[in-house]
Amino acid sequence: VAIRVKPSPPLPHRITDLAIIDELISELLCDNHPVAVGISFGGPVDHSQGVVRLSHHVPGWENFAICSYYQEKLNIPVFVDNDANVAALSEWAFGAGVGKSSLLYLTISTGVGGGIILDGRIWHGMDSMAGEIGHMTIDPQGPVCLCGKRGCVERLASGPYLADDARTILREYPEKGTILRHIVLDELEKITAREIGQAASQGDDLSVKLVKRAGIALGIGIGNTANLLNPECFVLGGGVIAIGDLLMQAIVSSARQTALPEVKLNIYPTALGNFSPLSGAVALAQANLVSIL
Ligand SMILES: [Zn+2]
Repeated sequence: VAIRVKPSPPLPHRITDLAIIDELISELLCDNHPVAVGISFGGPVDHSQGVVRLSHHVPGWENFAICSYYQEKLNIPVFVDNDANVAALSEWAFGAGVGKSSLLYLTISTGVGGGIILDGRIWHGMDSMAGEIGHMTIDPQGPVCLCGKRGCVERLASGPYLADDARTILREYPEKGTILRHIVLDELEKITAREIGQAASQGDDLSVKLVKRAGIALGIGIGNTANLLNPECFVLGGGVIAIGDLLMQAIVSSARQTALPEVKLNIYPTALGNFSPLSGAVALAQANLVSIL
């Protein structure tokens, strides 16, 4: 499998993104003639119309008909879906969920996203919005999330919010988080989920507390979802999961406390890592090709 990665420029726009994609297409395809294209998009999409709704990070993508754009260029069928849905399909087709009939994928990273596979297919919901476990309310009195609601899973467990909360507490309480402060040499702007994980593994009081809080929030989300859907497994990916055992233990025990005793819980780390949205784009094209042939 050939993989090329090119980062976006500092102030990206749809136009610059498309130029990068075009470059990658010509590099990768050379004289190959694919039969279909699958696109994993990092934001909400209307998969049935092949239209991107928007990107939360890059302007210019609003209501962009990405499938017809590439269909005209390449003259083959093109399919698109949200990256969390595509990653879920990927883990089901090639990763930790092979052989299962149902799966819930969670990515805990810049945000917390989710994708649901039921009977081997992505469950989109009426508005293509199913799987938003990140905005499940854990604490109605909790801090405000970027979605405007309070105490969402994402507000309590995503990387940037963990770092924000650590910085706020470190500024307010000079006696807390000594190990974390030392790791970033007192440059609080350098704190990310990775440094928090590192400090937590060395017993830093503040970091341990934040990691456990994140794990409990994720576990409540997973336990409630298990009660509702009873999927065969949960697969967890994204950079924050790399924090490791302390986080995983908090997730598993909180999910177990939340789910009914009769509801089995299988919680696995991703088998495909950061490449699950990419390999999932292949699975997406394959699945859709089969259904249109
Ligand atoms: Zn939210």
